[in-house]
Amino acid sequence: MSKTILIVAAHPDDELLGAGATAIARAKAGDSVHVLILGQGALSREGSAQSDVHALQDSAKAAASSAGFASVSFATFPDNAFDSVPLLDITKEVEKHLAKLKPDVVYTHHEHDLNVDHRLTFQAVLTASRPCNENAPAELLTFETLSSTEWQSKDHKQFAPTIYVDVAKTLDAKIEALGAYESEMRAYPHSRSNEGVRILAQYRGLESGLEAAEAFQLVRKIEK
Ligand SMILES: [Zn+2]
Repeated sequence: MSKTILIVAAHPDDELLGAGATAIARAKAGDSVHVLILGQGALSREGSAQSDVHALQDSAKAAASSAGFASVSFATFPDNAFDSVPLLDITKEVEKHLAKLKPDVVYTHHEHDLNVDHRLTFQAVLTASRPCNENAPAELLTFETLSSTEWQSKDHKQFAPTIYVDVAKTLDAKIEALGAYESEMRAYPHSRSNEGVRILAQYRGLESGLEAAEAFQLVRKIEK
């Protein structure tokens, strides 16, 4: 039976960096993949303007269409300042989308990323997904986001994968979809580069006996 999947990301491009190749495979297999991007993703940078926010949303739409996703939605929480709004507001936004889509599976950020928006996105998704909510997903997983997850202090609690997905067949499509985010991608050896994406997939592959893998940490799975 086909499933409904929701990726909740803080910024445009996180959805692909974190779960892109897996989501592309799920979409190809007939699942319905939706993306919710909570933040504006641009205004904290020097010289940025509202037009940059719209350009990034256009990039996200182009990326979603390249990836075969069913929809992409946007909220407008302030870039790199999710801690300036009440967590309840972010949680309510997530709850609204859970109620609308009733996803079977939700993917979101790891709770110990360096980026504050990522950490609060995790908190909001976890709160919205508490089992007493009738629209809570049966499965909640976190992903790693290059240039945030690995940049956290190594003394901090680390992303610890429990699930590896074989993405040998969709890694190229992920990198192609990331091409829509020209303004966000960087030149190697920045980790948020095409090479960085490939190297991480190979490294997660080494851990799991696969040519290329995306790794996830299972937060909760409820089987009925
Ligand atoms: Zn981000």
